[in-house]
Amino acid sequence: MKIIIIKFGGSSLADPDKIRRAAAMTVASRRRGFSPVAVVSAPAESTDDLLSLASLTAGDCIPPRESDALLAAGEQFSAALLAMAIEAEGKKAVSLTGSQAGIRTDNRFSAASVKNVDTRRLKKEIRDGRIPVVAGFQGISAGGDITTLGRGGSDLTAVTLARALGAALTEFRTDVKGIYSAHPAIVPQARKLKNISYQEVIALARLGTDVRQLRAIDYARKYSIPLHLRSSFHDEPGTMVTATGGKPGVSCLSVKKEGVSALVSLIGRGLGAKHTAAAARAAASAGVSAAAEKITSTAISFRASAAEAETLIKALHAVFITG
Ligand code: ASP
Ligand code: MG
Repeated sequence: MKIIIIKFGGSSLADPDKIRRAAAMTVASRRRGFSPVAVVSAPAESTDDLLSLASLTAGDCIPPRESDALLAAGEQFSAALLAMAIEAEGKKAVSLTGSQAGIRTDNRFSAASVKNVDTRRLKKEIRDGRIPVVAGFQGISAGGDITTLGRGGSDLTAVTLARALGAALTEFRTDVKGIYSAHPAIVPQARKLKNISYQEVIALARLGTDVRQLRAIDYARKYSIPLHLRSSFHDEPGTMVTATGGKPGVSCLSVKKEGVSALVSLIGRGLGAKHTAAAARAAASAGVSAAAEKITSTAISFRASAAEAETLIKALHAVFITG
C-alpha cells in the first residue's frame, strides 16, 4: 500500500481536542488508500518552555547531551498522546521515539545530522497493521545518546522518513492552509496557491515568510519528495510543493522587515528583466521609491522603506497576481 507521511506541527497538537482531530485525520488517510505514518512536533510552545526550565534549573551550565535528552521529551509527549487518540478511534497505533524509529544521527547535540534510517521496526509495525506515530526532531547517535536535529527539525524527520520508506506523499498539517500569494493580513485578495516549486519555497523561506525548516525543503527538493502543505483543521486541499510548481511567472510576494527598511520580493519561476521593469513601474505609480537589489530567476527583491512596504506589496499584488 502507498505510504503517506503526515506531519503535525506543534500548534495542531496543543490540546486534547486538537490531538483527537489529528488522530481522526490520520485514520481518514486510510480511506484515501494510504497507509499512514504520523510524525509529530512537541505541543505548541513546549520546546521553549523546556528550554526555559533548563536555564531556570541549571543557568548557563546546561550540558548539550542533557539539553537534547530534555527537548526530545516534548515530541515524545505528542507521539504517545496521538497514538492513544488513534487507539481511541478504534485503530491500532504505536508511538516511537526517533531511536525506536531507527533514525541514526551523528553526535552533534542540538544540530545533529541524520546518517541513516533503519526502517525495520517501522516496516514491521506497518505490516502488523499499526499506525506508527514517530516523535519528530530526534534521533540516536552511534554512542546511544539521544540527539536533536535543530529547531523545527520535525520537518526534517518527516522528509527523511518519506525517503527511507519510499512514501508516495508527505503532508505537513499546520494551522495555516497553505502558501498564499501574499500575507492575507496585508492583502485581503491574496490567493492560496495550488502548486509551487521547491525553489520558490526556499526563496520564500530566505526572503521573509517563515514557511518551513529550510533543511527539510532542501532535502525534499534533492530527493524529489512531493509535499502537501495543508491545514490540520480543514480537509480542503492546501499547496502542493513539487519540482515543477505552478505556471511560470510571479507566484507570490514576500516581505522581510529589516529595521527602517524592508525587502519586498517577487517570487516565481522564470523571472527576469521584464518582471523587474513591471515591478518598478508599479512601485512608481504607487508613489513608492524602491530599488531592485537582487535578481534571480526565482526571486527579485526591492529595497523600500519599512513604512511603504505594505503599499508596495499591494501594488505588486494588483499587477502580478490579481491583474
Ligand atoms: N519542537 C521542536 C522545535 O520547536 C522541533 C519542531 O517543532 O519541529 O523546534
Ligand atoms: Mg515546533
